[in-house]
Amino acid sequence: MSKKKILVAGGGGFIGGHLVKQLLSEGHEVRSVDIKPVAEWYQVSDGVENVVADLKLKDACDAACDGVSDVYNLAADMGGMGFIENNKALCMLSVLINTHLLQSALASKCDRLFYASSACVYNADKQKCEDVVPLKEEDAYPAMPEDGYGWEKLFSERMCRHFREDFGLYTRVARFHNVYGPYGTWDGGREKAPAAVIRKVIHAKETGNHEMEIWGDGKQTRSFMYIDDCVKGIRMIMDSDVIEPINLGSDELTTINGLVDIVENIAGIKVERNYNLSAPKGVNGRNSDNTLITKLLGWAPGIKLSDGMARTYEWILGEYHKTHAAQTA
Ligand code: NAD
Repeated sequence: MSKKKILVAGGGGFIGGHLVKQLLSEGHEVRSVDIKPVAEWYQVSDGVENVVADLKLKDACDAACDGVSDVYNLAADMGGMGFIENNKALCMLSVLINTHLLQSALASKCDRLFYASSACVYNADKQKCEDVVPLKEEDAYPAMPEDGYGWEKLFSERMCRHFREDFGLYTRVARFHNVYGPYGTWDGGREKAPAAVIRKVIHAKETGNHEMEIWGDGKQTRSFMYIDDCVKGIRMIMDSDVIEPINLGSDELTTINGLVDIVENIAGIKVERNYNLSAPKGVNGRNSDNTLITKLLGWAPGIKLSDGMARTYEWILGEYHKTHAAQTA
């Protein structure tokens, strides 16, 4: 495989940070760009050109794309349900990132661009009950995605398609279904369910107050993909001839209550669950139909939810202790 110079947009974030590591391990030269100060990046790898810039700005995208052959766009202003339900305008402004990156990639004659879309593009009518039929790629239309965040993702998917059709830019799009793992957001309001549940159970164990709040009735169903499976899938999709958006997610369905059971087992405690029915909870049910990605790429998630959650628990426990040690120092 030839050595390339590659841009990871959003490299200071969760998935971007892991992707940078993967690309380095393949021998590529990496430029990682994020709006956050480097001190706040989840992972900072040696030998990477780390750049702090706001990729909503065209000039910043021009500089980021200069001299690179491949662009991975993992940059977005996003978070879990608590964030996206209350920050729809901010989520939609991420359209500027993808728009300008597409224009800059084209102008810089980059060979390829990968775009991180989401299962939030899927039609809400198909996700009304917990006993959900897994979502196939065609279920995004007729369009009725998650308000704000999902509309931006669907629009940006289409822009990737039209840059490919009209300008010949090689674009690839994956629809991620809930990704979790170490080195990601675990507190502060942008965290997603797996990290939030782990943090709450750790807090219950450490404080001896064995109670926790759950958003919704706990019966909502989801699937969660471990980060290593996600990064492997991103690389396979980028290298493939799959030109339409494709699901990249686990099809191991669980309820939120089931997720709490897993974390209780890891922690070795039981918690009293207080259900907050007015908190943001998203759709009632969502799962990934992996027929297409299995058939076209032979990709399937390799890490069971209980194993991935155990690894994530260990990392969040370390972060929890660091934070509390700093607060009490
Ligand atoms: P993340 O928040 O950890 O990473 C996104 C990064 O983008 C952050 O570090 C953020 O600072 C950066 N960013 C935001 N605005 C920017 C800007 N204007 N310029 C430069 N950088 C900017 O999120 P993540 O979980 O790593 O998600 C990566 C991508 O995958 C996003 O596009 C997200 O929408 C998509 N996605 C993630 C999940 C998931 O479960 N994590 C699910 C579906 C889709």
